[in-house]
Amino acid sequence: MDRAKLRELQSERLVKIVKYTYDNVQFYRERMDEAGVKPSDIKSIDDISKLPFMQKKDLRDYYPYGTFAAPLKDIVRFHASSGTTGKPIVAGYTQNDLDNWAEGVARCLTAYGATKDDILQVSYGYGLFTGGLGAHDGGQKLGATVLPMSSGNTSKQIMLMKDLGCTGLCCTPSYALFLAESIAEDPDTDIEKDIKLKFGAFGAEPWTENMRKELESKLRIKAYDIYGLTEVSGPGVGGECEYQDGTHLWEDMFYPEIIDPVTLQPVEPGQQGELVFTTLLKEGMPVIRYRTRDLTHLIYDKCRCGRTMVRMGRILGRSDDMMIIRGVNVFPSTIESCILEIPEFNGQYFVTVDRVKNVDTFDIDVELRPEFYTDNMDKMLNLKARLTMRLVSVLGIKPVIHIVEPNTIARSQGKAKHVLDKRQFKNE
Ligand code: ADP
Ligand code: ZN
Repeated sequence: MDRAKLRELQSERLVKIVKYTYDNVQFYRERMDEAGVKPSDIKSIDDISKLPFMQKKDLRDYYPYGTFAAPLKDIVRFHASSGTTGKPIVAGYTQNDLDNWAEGVARCLTAYGATKDDILQVSYGYGLFTGGLGAHDGGQKLGATVLPMSSGNTSKQIMLMKDLGCTGLCCTPSYALFLAESIAEDPDTDIEKDIKLKFGAFGAEPWTENMRKELESKLRIKAYDIYGLTEVSGPGVGGECEYQDGTHLWEDMFYPEIIDPVTLQPVEPGQQGELVFTTLLKEGMPVIRYRTRDLTHLIYDKCRCGRTMVRMGRILGRSDDMMIIRGVNVFPSTIESCILEIPEFNGQYFVTVDRVKNVDTFDIDVELRPEFYTDNMDKMLNLKARLTMRLVSVLGIKPVIHIVEPNTIARSQGKAKHVLDKRQFKNE
């Protein structure tokens, strides 16, 4: 779609959604009244900046139904985001919302080159988490054959992947890495002969270009990004195309902005900042200028694939994943990327941060590929030194590296947990 036409469509939809939420949700009415803006002030997408922001806290404060805009009789499904502390965020979907969500996922699958002929192994968790059912509905919408595996039971995953000839894999990148390792260790499975996978749709957590290379070579596939969040709908808010050069966001349905998280002003085009979404079509639980806390940038240049919809760079992490260690901002994704630059490491890592005598400690456990694990101390020390040097040059601070035995770092079947920050349990 031509970008001028797209803007018209976005404008038309924004005007409608703002009026709809104002009329149906007390929360939006109060916020807009406080900000002194009326639905009639919103005439086009250019007026979006007049609207107040909303955050995760608002969804929690109005738990469970306070931000729903449709009556419960029209809500056909609930999902909830994990919410590690306190109440989860509950999302309600009308049938139209589910159809649009499936449309978003189907567009991603199409962009990966998937068709009706593909067999999709959906290894995202099924349940409250949006990953499983989201990928499932999108796969069916495309007309592909869906295998609703859910996460876990890795040996059965591999058996069915082989026996049914699955061609697409949907799961978190960390679980894909674990599956790849398990396939490599399985004496009865030959990746070349027995596995028919062509592509993977990986998301739900940040991952890096180096992880892409790793997964592509281990699984002999093309690995594509899929992005989304429960508050906005679920996976399939955007996905990569065959050029793997940014994640196209389906901005006719989900309008993205990037703001400076401190000043809350829009950044210059192309600059990094916090991603904000307005759902242009959602009926059940729309969000207006929702602050995701995901840090990224947007690319408006036309993509080589011909799609005109904006692309998003890799998510560096959530602002709440960022650790400040000895005053330096550190994202787990940067650590992952450095580790995978050194081929002897297998990409599994775990970071522990603590504060001892007022000084931050920064320890990273890493694993070697089993074939490189040796009792030759010189080799091990050399690898440790190489990784330390790389991390110091990228991060500016020095971690203590511990090379642990293969298979000692806990593998994840869903979203990986890479960090333990013990400082948050101390009252200093
Ligand atoms: P929770 O908040 O419980 O993790 P979600 O399952 O809705 O709930 O997770 C959405 C979040 O997951 C996003 O805001 C983002 O931080 C992360 N995420 C999802 N997809 C990707 C992706 N492709 N790359 C990086 N991060 C992602
Ligand atoms: Zn493209």
